[in-house]
Amino acid sequence: ATPTAVTVGIGRGAELGLLIRNGEALEVSEKLTAIVFDKTGTLTRGKPDVTDIVALTVPEDRLLAVAAAVEHNSQHPLAEAVVRRAESAGVGVPASEWFTTFGGRGVSAVVEGDEVLIGNQPFLEEHGIPVPPVAEDRIAALQDEGKTAVLVGAGAGLAGILAIADTLKPTTKSAIAELKRMGLSVTMITGDNERTANAIAREVGIDDVHAGVLPQEKAQEVRALQERGEVVAFVGDGINDAPALAQADVGIAIGSGTDVAIESGDIVLIRDDLVDAVAAVELSRKVMSRIK
Ligand code: ADP
Ligand code: MG
Repeated sequence: ATPTAVTVGIGRGAELGLLIRNGEALEVSEKLTAIVFDKTGTLTRGKPDVTDIVALTVPEDRLLAVAAAVEHNSQHPLAEAVVRRAESAGVGVPASEWFTTFGGRGVSAVVEGDEVLIGNQPFLEEHGIPVPPVAEDRIAALQDEGKTAVLVGAGAGLAGILAIADTLKPTTKSAIAELKRMGLSVTMITGDNERTANAIAREVGIDDVHAGVLPQEKAQEVRALQERGEVVAFVGDGINDAPALAQADVGIAIGSGTDVAIESGDIVLIRDDLVDAVAAVELSRKVMSRIK
């Protein structure tokens, strides 16, 4: 039978905006030593915008049009940002065919007879599109501002770069500070590149960053921490995060996240507010001190 204090704790959680799926989650939360956050949609709002357009071999409008032609096939938040910008710029978007997704790296399609590749630098380079040193410098500068550089390759060359930035949720920084004060080690895991990830981490006060992590590798990163003896909570919102949410000792899903993530979470933050993750740990400490 579930001890009364746990049942009461689950009810108290509901008042605090926490959907606690099982009593065990509340019991284990007291023992947590580490908390791992996904970046996009978890620490940040997950609604990024195009902030800079660097047109290299084609005019700006053409760069946007070609990029949107490919990205309108993708559900990725970066893709949505590109399509939205093309719409607001009022450019005519050509048709595309042979759309392909390369998970955690980029997308491609054929636009008006040209193969177009859109994604991060390693993705373009792997497909034989060189990134000249001047472009590399520009990319690094954008990434140091916490922006994601989305490279657009058309034909055989780099046509341009779109910088895309997401804003932090208003309480991210204070939630991280509070979790650290409570003695938890805090880590960020992201598919985004190292420079961008480090810039965001610096802004929110996270020292431990694992960047360039492929979707299927997030759960492995959680397991590696557990093998070192950590009791781990993972906080995430995306389809990619479901295996890590399941692997963690406590999976904490963002309420506005994808259905798969919510189903994989032991605790759901109904208000999407990371301060509620702090409340969950505090609640479990209170409940468990009453049981012992
Ligand atoms: P995150 O962990 O931030 O959600 P993902 O694993 O989904 O990141 O993607 C990692 C990286 O792959 C992105 O930062 C981006 O560089 C590239 N990428 C993935 N999908 C796309 C896309 N549709 N358009 C452009 N770039 C993409
Ligand atoms: Mg995410």
